[in-house]
Amino acid sequence: MMNAFNISRLPRILFGPGTVQQLPGLAARYGKHVLLVTGRSAIRDSRIWTELLCGLEAHGMTWEDVKVETEPSPYLVDTEVTRLQDCAIDVVVGIGGGSALDAAKAIAGLLRPGNSVMDHLEGVGPERPYSGPATPFIAVPTTAGTGSEATKNAVLSLHGEHGFKKSFRDESLIAEYAVVDPDLLASCPAPVIAANGMDALTQLLESFVSTKANPFTDALALDGLRITRDSLLVWYRQGASAADARSGMAYAALLSGITLAQVGLGSVHGLAAPLGAFFPIPHGVACGTLVAAATQINIQALKQRTPAGVALRKYAQLGRLLGNDETLDDLAAHDTLIEILDKWTREMDLPRLNHYGVCVDDLSRIVTNSRGSSMKTNPILLTDDEIETVLRMRL
Ligand SMILES: [Zn+2]
Repeated sequence: MMNAFNISRLPRILFGPGTVQQLPGLAARYGKHVLLVTGRSAIRDSRIWTELLCGLEAHGMTWEDVKVETEPSPYLVDTEVTRLQDCAIDVVVGIGGGSALDAAKAIAGLLRPGNSVMDHLEGVGPERPYSGPATPFIAVPTTAGTGSEATKNAVLSLHGEHGFKKSFRDESLIAEYAVVDPDLLASCPAPVIAANGMDALTQLLESFVSTKANPFTDALALDGLRITRDSLLVWYRQGASAADARSGMAYAALLSGITLAQVGLGSVHGLAAPLGAFFPIPHGVACGTLVAAATQINIQALKQRTPAGVALRKYAQLGRLLGNDETLDDLAAHDTLIEILDKWTREMDLPRLNHYGVCVDDLSRIVTNSRGSSMKTNPILLTDDEIETVLRMRL
C-alpha cells in the first residue's frame, strides 16, 4: 500500500559538461540587469568567468556583483539587499558552493520586498510568513555537495557562543534554473571533494530513511547513493583526471538537493546546525564526520524500540547497496553499512570534532540545540544520551 505524497516544484535543470555556456542566454530571458553572486573561489580568475561576462555583454546585459567569503550571515544578506535597493536587478545568478548559492537565494528572495531576512528565519525572530515576490534566481554549483541548486531554503549562520544556523525557507525561493556543469568542478581540491561528497551522501541517506520519505524520493535517493558508491572515492583519489566520477558526484549532489527539499533530513543535519554555529566547522565536514556514528546509533535505537519498523529494512537495503552485495541478510547489511561509512570517513580523512575545538563540556549545549527541523524527520526520536553518544564517538 502506497501512502499519499506531494512533490513540490523543482527548478528547470540543465545538466552536463559545457551547459554553463547557456547561462547568459538564460539570464537574458529575465531582463537586462543581473546580480552575480560568487564564492571566494577561483572562478573569477578562470576562463569561464571571462566567457560569462563576454556572453552577458553580447546579450546587452549589465551586472552588479557580490563576493561571499564565508558561510553567509543574515547581516550579509540585509547589507546587500539594502545596497542593491535602487539597482533594479532583473535576475540573480549564484555561482559557487553552498555558501554562494544560499546567499544568492536569500538576496533574490528579499531584493524586491526589501525587508530583513531576520523576519523570516526559522526558529529565531518573529518567523513572519514570506509572501515575496522573489527575483528570478539561477543556481550554478561549483562543488558537488549541498544540493542548494535544487532546494527551497537558504541556510544562514551567525557564528559564536550565541550563534545559530537557520533556514529562510519558501517554495518561491527555488531557482528558476539549476545549471549543473561538471566541468566547473574540475579544480575541486581533495578535502572539498571529501566534505561535500559526504554531505551529498548524508543527504541522500537521511532523506531515504526520513519519516516523510516517499517512493519518488526513494528512487532518486537510491540512484544517488549507487552513483556515490561508484564515484566518490574514485574522484577523491584521482582528482581532475576522473571526469566520469566527477560528473557522477555532480548528479548525486543534485539528487540529494531534490530529495532533501521534498522529505527533509535527520540527526546528522540536526547536529550539523549547532556545530556549525558554535564552531568553525564547515557543513560538509560536520556531516561527513558524524554520518557513520549517527547511522550506528539510529540502527541501535531502532533495534531496541521499533524492531519491526520500515526504517531498519531501509538501512539494510542501503547496506546491500553500498556493500554491492544483494545476498546480505538484514543484520549483516546493517553492519556492512556502518563499516563502509566508517571506512570512507577514515580513508578521506574527515577531521574529528576536537580538531575544531569541540570538547566534552560543549556536548550538552550542542545536544540542546540539535532538535531543529532536520531532527524532526529522523527515523526514530533519539534521546539526549543517544545524541550525545554520536558526538562522543567523533570527539
Ligand atoms: Zn547537508
